[in-house]
Amino acid sequence: MSAATLRSYQVTPSPLLQVGPESLSTLSDQVARLGTPCVLLVSDQGMAAAGWVANVQASLARQNTVALFLAPPGEPTVATVNAAAEAARALLQKQRCTVVGLGGGTALDIAKLVAAVAVAERPMDDYMMCAAPFSGRLPALMIPSTSGTGAEVTRTCVLTDSHGRKSWAWGDELRPDLALLDPALPVTLPPTLTATTGLDALVHAIEAATSQRTNAIAQSYALQAVRLIGEALPTAVAAPDNLQTRLQMQEAACLAGLAIDQCGTGLAHNIGHALGTVAHLPHAVAVALAMQATLAWSIAGAPIRYQPIADALHPGSSSTDLPELYAALLAAVDFAHARLPYSSPAPSAEALLDSMRSAENQPMLANNARVATPSDLAMLAHQVVALL
Ligand SMILES: [Zn+2]
Repeated sequence: MSAATLRSYQVTPSPLLQVGPESLSTLSDQVARLGTPCVLLVSDQGMAAAGWVANVQASLARQNTVALFLAPPGEPTVATVNAAAEAARALLQKQRCTVVGLGGGTALDIAKLVAAVAVAERPMDDYMMCAAPFSGRLPALMIPSTSGTGAEVTRTCVLTDSHGRKSWAWGDELRPDLALLDPALPVTLPPTLTATTGLDALVHAIEAATSQRTNAIAQSYALQAVRLIGEALPTAVAAPDNLQTRLQMQEAACLAGLAIDQCGTGLAHNIGHALGTVAHLPHAVAVALAMQATLAWSIAGAPIRYQPIADALHPGSSSTDLPELYAALLAAVDFAHARLPYSSPAPSAEALLDSMRSAENQPMLANNARVATPSDLAMLAHQVVALL
């Protein structure tokens, strides 16, 4: 980047972060700080099966009225958010509520959207891709169980629209008041989910630090995230109950979330969202694969932007080493095993390309370190499909 380029950027605030072992035990106090007598707890089936939902419900019930919304399996949809917002509106007839999100990116994105959508009578559909602004929100507190999306600190939510397209919503109202980063929550994740969600966090950090909208402050967050993930993710997969490693990953995902909140994501997320639309791949698997297929191409067009990433992942390395370092990390976390259930059927390159070029995926395309021409895009779509 030229020293003569005049730029302006703002370092956006993070929610208040409660970080460390036992932070979950402070939940009632944190909700009291938000000053509502009632809580809508938004979580998912996996968290209920692992016993976390019952634990959190019981702890909240000592001081609050608690209602529960369990998201159906799969990633968030407009219909799910509308149903959860309806549940929140019913509660609001009686008393003011805090929305608590407990789980992975799906539960957290639904919770964030419910807090903003429930305060007005409009459906979720009206807010997609900033078509209408949000008009306030309920107090919101997030408890991530995966160390991946960084949804606990971002103003973006990813969800499937009423046409089946993976799309997004954005607004200051989607940033929560508080987040609890407790290392105990991810301990019950299957190793495959630890691996893929951790890779999603790494892709966030790489894309934020190299993007067209990057800045020095966000880079400091992103590069620290890369260092932490490179060191901690293989251990988190191999030794799931190592709380020190889990805490490193919780903070890394949060740092990467703060970085993308300022700088956005790039090509791997463009393709990741397109794979979600045309092949229904889970977000984390899709972006990890997309990064694998496109990293060398992106580096070739902007090697200087990737140099600090290589050095953060393995001190002394250069940007040309980065595809190999990324491949070594995929092997260390056994990504080949984690992606197995999603190997087939592969979509056509044409269908993938069509979705990569769609309006909802344009911002990520324009923000990548190396911006693709139309013929580049067609080549990259074939490269991704060949990997599936
Ligand atoms: Zn992501």
